[in-house]
Amino acid sequence: MTDQDATHARPSVAPGALWIGGRPAAAADGATRTILDPATAQAVTTVADGGAADVALAVVAARAAADSGVWSGMAPRARAEVLARVAALIREHAEELARLESLDVGKPLMFTRMIDVPTAADTYAYYAQLAASIEGSARTPSIPAFAYTRREPHGVVGAITPFNFPLILSATKLAPALVAGNTVVHKPAEETPLTALRMAELFHEAGLPDGVLNVVTGGADAGRALVADPRVDKIAFTGSSAVGRSVAQAAGAALTPVLVELGGKGANVIFADADVEAAIGTAINAFVFNTGQFCMAGSRLLVERPVYDAVVEALTGAVGHVPVGDPFADGTVVGPMAGPTHEAKVRSYIELAAESGYRLASGPEHDGPGFFAPVTVVAGVDQASPLVQEEVFGPVLTVQAFDTEDEAVAMANGTPYGLSAGLQTTNLARAHRVAARLRAGIVWVNGWSLLDVQMPFGGTGRSGYGRENGPEALDEYLRTKSVLIDLG
Ligand code: NAD
Repeated sequence: MTDQDATHARPSVAPGALWIGGRPAAAADGATRTILDPATAQAVTTVADGGAADVALAVVAARAAADSGVWSGMAPRARAEVLARVAALIREHAEELARLESLDVGKPLMFTRMIDVPTAADTYAYYAQLAASIEGSARTPSIPAFAYTRREPHGVVGAITPFNFPLILSATKLAPALVAGNTVVHKPAEETPLTALRMAELFHEAGLPDGVLNVVTGGADAGRALVADPRVDKIAFTGSSAVGRSVAQAAGAALTPVLVELGGKGANVIFADADVEAAIGTAINAFVFNTGQFCMAGSRLLVERPVYDAVVEALTGAVGHVPVGDPFADGTVVGPMAGPTHEAKVRSYIELAAESGYRLASGPEHDGPGFFAPVTVVAGVDQASPLVQEEVFGPVLTVQAFDTEDEAVAMANGTPYGLSAGLQTTNLARAHRVAARLRAGIVWVNGWSLLDVQMPFGGTGRSGYGRENGPEALDEYLRTKSVLIDLG
């Protein structure tokens, strides 16, 4: 075996407990859930399966910590020091966290090392720096008063995260929420809770006061209980559009402010004037990254007619060459889907493509156990097809031809989603013109997936509302109070 073929050891993981009030706890009813390795379908460990009673205990702990002022009353610089220590601890434990995330989600270790772990650390470090920017302002009113504004935390934040980027998406919520002075109850996805539990320990080690971060592992019941709890002051949700809608409705009924980051159906537009070879490489990465389980995936490719045939040929030839396999093996680019239901969903769309008579090219089936789905390109798809209109959330790309810039924009904007979009062109004026017209929270030109903690992202339409990353995310977790002192 050469170094290139090396398969790294999987970690062994002790059973996980809830984290409430600064210590581990079993679920009130003693329930546990088995966590599977998606690449082998074998049990990895168990974690406590929290429900409404556990959420209530966690909310009480978070409420008490919020009301005591133990965290919100701390100088922002002191809160920042805790977050900076969390960032340092993530870097110190980088390899452990990368393996845990790969085991839990089935992500290739190359990416958890290169992307998930460093991005989570960068996110905590960035918001630690932004602590100094939390400030109100003095105003000059036309009445005899000394008037100023204060920026204050909401209180208790309920953070609900999906299965596909556990470390990163919890950091995008926890870092701004905590540096703003909120306390948090975090409910990670039931399939992938392992790094959230490890992070609770690292926060503890970093000196976060007890009760400021609580983690309840569990499923939809726990999520529903968190959203409905009147003692929660803000909900931050990332997940599917269907669940996001019910979360927004429940939060609306309780008048709890809510941020919902939901699904996507990103259109990647290749104009004939693009560097076509580079654009093809970009298009492949855009749909296979994270095994296509990426809300901002470039899952729809729109190609200008003169280069359409060449692009389709190149893509159908490439699907067989994307390295699919064990996430712990060097060189793996595409791993398994995170679970059996995800695999079944992706395969149902591939079957639909075949039944619809579209031109279809799939890479080889993975030889072995696990929840793998083949890398697939479907060309000549109708705009109205569910393959174009619905989020597949797997390594499946649709390809469509267009003739004019207006048609490309109409097709790109022609789904209910609006999260990410991109265009490949060498025409500078077109780049700016089309970027402005694309209905999306983030647009990439001559690339895809360029992400940075300073740059906000978020949706429109069925992709949700609110923004994460950048100073915009800090605003999500602060509210403004006016103070007027009568000088009359
Ligand atoms: P999901 O909606 O099934 O679950 C998300 C979370 O919500 C989980 O923790 C789940 O337990 C919880 N939940 C389920 N039902 C609930 C309810 N009724 N009330 C409260 N919480 C509930 O999503 P998923 O399958 O884990 O994640 C994939 C989806 O997330 C995709 O649609 C993807 O596009 C989206 N996503 C969006 C972004 C973004 O930033 N916009 C980022 C990553 C993933």
